[in-house]
Amino acid sequence: MHKIPFKNRYVTLGKTFYVKTGPSPVANPTLIKFNDSLAKTLGLSDVNLNSTDGAEIFAGNLIPEGAEPLAMAYAGHQFGYFNPQLGDGRAILLGEIVSPDGIFFDMQLKGSGRTFYSRGGDGRAALGPVLREYLVSEAMEKLGVPTTRALAVVTTGEDVVRERLLPGGIITRIATSFVRVGTFQYFSAKGDLKGIKKLADYVIERNYPQVCDAVNPYVAFLKAAVDNQAALISQWMQLGFIHGVMNTDNMSIAGETIDYGPCAFMDAYDHDRVFSAIDSGGRYAYSNQPTIGLWNLTRLAETILPLLAEDTDAAVEVAQDVLKTYLESYHINWLAGMRAKCGLTENLDKSKNDDKALIEELFNTMAANNADFTLTFFYLSLMTEQPLEQDNHIRALFDNPTQFDEWAVKWRKRLRDESTTDGERQAEMQMVNPVYIPRNHQIEAAIRAAEDHDDYSVFHDLHEVLQNPYAQQDGKDSYMLPPEPDEVVRQTFCGT
Ligand code: AMP
Ligand code: MG
Repeated sequence: MHKIPFKNRYVTLGKTFYVKTGPSPVANPTLIKFNDSLAKTLGLSDVNLNSTDGAEIFAGNLIPEGAEPLAMAYAGHQFGYFNPQLGDGRAILLGEIVSPDGIFFDMQLKGSGRTFYSRGGDGRAALGPVLREYLVSEAMEKLGVPTTRALAVVTTGEDVVRERLLPGGIITRIATSFVRVGTFQYFSAKGDLKGIKKLADYVIERNYPQVCDAVNPYVAFLKAAVDNQAALISQWMQLGFIHGVMNTDNMSIAGETIDYGPCAFMDAYDHDRVFSAIDSGGRYAYSNQPTIGLWNLTRLAETILPLLAEDTDAAVEVAQDVLKTYLESYHINWLAGMRAKCGLTENLDKSKNDDKALIEELFNTMAANNADFTLTFFYLSLMTEQPLEQDNHIRALFDNPTQFDEWAVKWRKRLRDESTTDGERQAEMQMVNPVYIPRNHQIEAAIRAAEDHDDYSVFHDLHEVLQNPYAQQDGKDSYMLPPEPDEVVRQTFCGT
């Protein structure tokens, strides 16, 4: 077996950053899924991880040579309340690897046993949430959204105790960084200025090398982190994705979607949709995500104030100037993305405000008529300048189709400003309007088959379809469908 080429740097930051901890072995690891294409991206194709040795590594039973396992320290605001010490309670960073393209990646096991930060928890993960994270994170990647990746899933051969006994699983996750906003908060809460600077320097070198030459690299870093987050959340909004638990410890400093817990894609559009069973106040509802992004970034800015300027007043002003750009950046991203979804790519200056109003009117009409988010945009991307029979596909999604018709008249009027042909516009729209998303009821079906019948075919089939979410696939129409009333999943759980 070839070695995994680890090149660990986080471990060199010093003992205040982590606690060295190995994974706890499990009884009987079985490799359920291995991500060949990601392994290739990482330069791991020759390591032969798709094997029994691989299963032992991904289960934490075998520590690969060069790994220096540790649990990272971090703090975080959970639903608005600050906890000065959270940390990896059920995850372990095995180490960092450099891909053939020269990009650093963290490799982490999640569900690998207790650590210094486990508090009352068992350090384990149930198989269901692990399969869910695999499906959704890999779908996000194929949808074009920055995200942590899934390299492998194993079952442990052990049960975990939740409301009932559930089979245990471990996911191996890959990220360009597992540093979170909460990691900065950890050092800030301790008043450890040196730690903050060290962390910021590490993150800049690793994830934001472009800011190194700025007059003040820390200001430029904050701006880049703000831009990344604005772009990311705008992408979530354009796909109807609800993260569900946007605590500051679940916001990646690299701008990747991280910590797939009670997340979900909407079926019928609802501006204020909440899935997470623990989000009773709706803090992380769909419509709140953009402003929560700003709230979290404000917490980040607070931690690095001493790096932004010599005196506090000046630093606060600098931070505010940067944070002010977030909502503007978010709205620019959102409008550009939504225009693309609606096929509006020309006469942008002239029609800016009208386009925004037109798009908002579509969403209002969808909400009033329980129209499916994904299918509305997919069928819109099949429409032509002249009304045709096939309009009935999209009309049927609306409780009252005439309300859609009224909107479509305005949309078609706006299309007259576009010089593209129907075919050109449809092709462009289909590149941004997916046919398939990981629908909750399908994920649930995959989990049920795996947990209840040891049958992974439903998981594998769903994963396969989601590899190519923008292309309609022969014989896969059932994956497009919203849930039947008895299939609706109303709540999602962290699975902790
Ligand atoms: P999460 O909700 O997954 O973002 O986790 C929040 C915090 O709780 C993190 O510090 C986790 O490491 C910790 N945690 C969650 N589940 C467990 C568990 N089963 N055992 C130990 N720690 C956990
Ligand atoms: Mg978390």
